[in-house]
Amino acid sequence: MAIDPRDAEICIHGTDLDRAPGAVVPPIAQTALFAHRSFDQLITGLGAEHCHQVYTRGCNPTVQALEDKLAALERGEACRCFASGMAAISAVFLGLLEAGDHVLFVNHTYGPTLQLAQHLERFDVAHDVVLDVDPEAVTKALKPETRLLWMESPGTMLFRTLDLAALAALARSRQIVTAIDNSWATPLFQKPLPLGVDLAVHACSKYLGGHSDVIAGAVVGSEALMEQIFYRALLLNGGILAPFDAWLVIRGLRTLPARMRQHQDDAIAVARWLDRQPKVRRVHHPRFRETTSRRGTSENSTPSEDGQLTGTSGLFSFELVNGDFDRVRRVIDALTVFRIGVSWGGPESLVISPERGDNAEQLKQQGIPPGLIRLSIGLEGAETLIDDLEHALARI
Ligand SMILES: *Cc1c(COP(=O)(O)O)cnc(C)c1O
Repeated sequence: MAIDPRDAEICIHGTDLDRAPGAVVPPIAQTALFAHRSFDQLITGLGAEHCHQVYTRGCNPTVQALEDKLAALERGEACRCFASGMAAISAVFLGLLEAGDHVLFVNHTYGPTLQLAQHLERFDVAHDVVLDVDPEAVTKALKPETRLLWMESPGTMLFRTLDLAALAALARSRQIVTAIDNSWATPLFQKPLPLGVDLAVHACSKYLGGHSDVIAGAVVGSEALMEQIFYRALLLNGGILAPFDAWLVIRGLRTLPARMRQHQDDAIAVARWLDRQPKVRRVHHPRFRETTSRRGTSENSTPSEDGQLTGTSGLFSFELVNGDFDRVRRVIDALTVFRIGVSWGGPESLVISPERGDNAEQLKQQGIPPGLIRLSIGLEGAETLIDDLEHALARI
């Protein structure tokens, strides 16, 4: 579970901009527009705004410095950054889909992504969700109109993994574009593009920014797909990443390798401890697999058998024995180090549950077991977090 040394270098170095030779941190190009030497030069720029600095809604050097890093980390040709992860996801849908198209979501998917898909029905874009991660089940769910296969691996809440190479090959044979939300693993621990996936999407608000102080998104893919997304969505929606916010993500990237190592190690330590607790039914973490042994979970030596995941991050969940809303609430409210809140990927540990007290039926339909608690393991140290959980579990 080593981090590729090339990636550490991309995260930390390589941000020199033309006008700031030697600067180890890129300057923030806080400018709305770029003046040109001649009118002809401006006309040339306007004809190819995806690669000319004309107006910051199109290209901005600080944002481009981040885009270059993310493209390199994902081993992709091109990257575009957005005002948020959802702006990135919206741009993929808006840039690639036509009325009459169908989108297939594979695995448990980030809630707002599915809510957006529901809105797309107004524009005659249909969708289905397939929770069975077996490629045969996915094949059955494809339609002649399926244009986009949207994947999350590990998936939201239960962190089940998909066979990305198999699904990418299946989709490619039918000219279906594939996209994956790769926020959980980060490009350090999973590289979908070399496996054949067309687009890797990121909520940079999570690990890439890494400090819970910026909202940002990104899409990485081929020049051709990214140009389509740029002209049909980003440039006209205008959901751009501000130069200062790009600078914050660049700063976050400089410590990404170190942070991910600790998130990984501490999450595994906490998950192992939870897995031994009699009040815990099972742990949902890509390293822990369901078996028929004691209480149902066992740990894999590698996070994913095929080496698709080269490491694991700090977000996972566990189920309480006899879990219900009341027990979930008691445990969450008894935690003092874990903060109660949405999002994840920052230095502070966070806790949340999909349970709302009135949605048991809905969760059942989505295949989410009762008594589920999601933890984002921050950087406080595993021992502190285990103490906090021990104290909280004693309340039930
Ligand atoms: C947070 C998140 C998003 C959305 O990112 P925002 O920056 O909040 O818009 C998308 N996918 C996943 C998996 C996320 O956790």
